[in-house]
Amino acid sequence: MLGEGGTALSEFEEAARKFLARGERSVDPKRYRAVIDSLDGDFSAVARDAQKTGEHLVSGNITAASWIARICGMSVTSAADRLCVGSQLESLPKVAAALGSGEISFQSASALCHLHEQLGEKGRLFDEDEMLGFTREYSVSELRKLCHFARHVADPDGFFNDAEESFTRRRLHISQMADGLYVVDGLLDPVSGAAFKTGLDVLAKRKGPEDERTRSQRMADAAGELAMHAMEHGTLPRRHSVKPHLNLTMTLEGLKGELGVPPADLELSLPISTRTAERIACDCTMSRVLLADSMVIDVGRATRTVSAPTRRALRVRDKGCRFPGCDRPVNWSSPHHIIHWTRGGPGNLPNLVLLCYYHHRLVHEGGWQVIKSGREFRFMPPDRVLMRRARGPGLRWAA
Ligand SMILES: [Zn+2]
Ligand SMILES: [Zn+2]
Repeated sequence: MLGEGGTALSEFEEAARKFLARGERSVDPKRYRAVIDSLDGDFSAVARDAQKTGEHLVSGNITAASWIARICGMSVTSAADRLCVGSQLESLPKVAAALGSGEISFQSASALCHLHEQLGEKGRLFDEDEMLGFTREYSVSELRKLCHFARHVADPDGFFNDAEESFTRRRLHISQMADGLYVVDGLLDPVSGAAFKTGLDVLAKRKGPEDERTRSQRMADAAGELAMHAMEHGTLPRRHSVKPHLNLTMTLEGLKGELGVPPADLELSLPISTRTAERIACDCTMSRVLLADSMVIDVGRATRTVSAPTRRALRVRDKGCRFPGCDRPVNWSSPHHIIHWTRGGPGNLPNLVLLCYYHHRLVHEGGWQVIKSGREFRFMPPDRVLMRRARGPGLRWAA
């Protein structure tokens, strides 16, 4: 078998080892990639030949893709891709030659092979010369789009059936980990995915030079902001005739920030920090529950920490988040108590300011201070931000 001493494969391995041990590091990346891609095409043909012999059945694997994936350390998707290329190249000699000579990349050849496979009986509509022309002209992602387009033109019913089959794979899982963070994992259909991405992209824009969040952190915050916005504006269906909301339970001592008291308890979550609890409590509906020996003896009337008339006046005055440079409009901002009501701050206009989801968090958890000076608000950064500003951009600590 190939791969043992004195065979073509062992000679190739020896040549590859020599190449890898070369002293000269500079290699033309285009030619180098072309060699790897043509080898990948040959590997696909070898995988296809192995599939034909039914070797995977002998070794107890149901599909050839899972067998190749296991023995070659690949994902099943990558192995299935190679098998598709290996199988389709048998009837696409010009594409096979172009891949073998390094003229087209493996990814481009793969896009053409998948299209040819999908066309099935309508494969005669596949014009190799025309498709190779497109491959030379377009990037891989453009070619993939073009293949989808060609598939739809040649076989609209098949395209629809494939799309419906893909649709059944949609899923979304959300679960809490031991440290309280939530892990989200899923697949969305093309329309929902595009809508979700568009919504998050708009909310995830960097908010000025002070915004140090990474792109993925901003996307995570955007997902939270989107969900909070839908809940706060009552656009979600009611549950047991009540608007969906978060339930936060904490003791009076906890609200006052006294030492040694138990943390606030957020429904469906692990206990949260006092600062986060304060942020949520800044604008909420509150009920006082009186306990005696763990027995509820009185439940007070639910009251809003910011009354409806004050909220309306605040919305007119601030028109949106008041953090300098922030463009979140009024519907995407909520009231913040400059002196928190748990420390005696009044729920009136002079003590309130509208802040967006991100800047509200920056003030409570991020250590920024809001100072009212006349009609204006000043936002004072914490010491670490001041020190960074003093160092200036591009300067590093001396080693
Ligand atoms: Zn607040
Ligand atoms: Zn803001």
